[in-house]
Amino acid sequence: MTEAHGHTTRRDPSRAELTHLLRSRGQRVTPQRIVILRELRRERRHLGADDVRQAISDAVPGISLPTVYATLDLFVELGLVRRLHVGGGVTLYDGRIEPHQHARCRICGEVQDVDGAPDDAALRAEAQRSGFAVEQVDVLLSGVCQRCRNAG
Ligand SMILES: [Zn+2]
Ligand SMILES: [Zn+2]
Repeated sequence: MTEAHGHTTRRDPSRAELTHLLRSRGQRVTPQRIVILRELRRERRHLGADDVRQAISDAVPGISLPTVYATLDLFVELGLVRRLHVGGGVTLYDGRIEPHQHARCRICGEVQDVDGAPDDAALRAEAQRSGFAVEQVDVLLSGVCQRCRNAG
């Protein structure tokens, strides 16, 4: 299998694993939940709700966008999926839970993972000085991806 952007392609999670993930969180297991969760977790991809709907349209024909959103919201709440705001009002969903940051190409809009923790001590200190209780620091890098750079 060819790997995109040099990322390690992850093993396709089995139905049993996904069922266990949902059951262990007290959730009902439905075919559409399984399909959506698998779609997000099988690769390092960052998908919008409509991308998810299109990707699963063969497996779950006729699924509505509100249903996809409701399922994604549930997964975010359960900590199974991360919600990313990447600017321009665009919201993407990420099946990779481990801490990592993101880089977004300003030409094609592709979002890729950047491993490593941000050096955020100065930001945290500054926020705390103004009385802000920091819970999380997300870094979004903007620029041009390799593919767009090669395209000139
Ligand atoms: Zn690009
Ligand atoms: Zn990611």
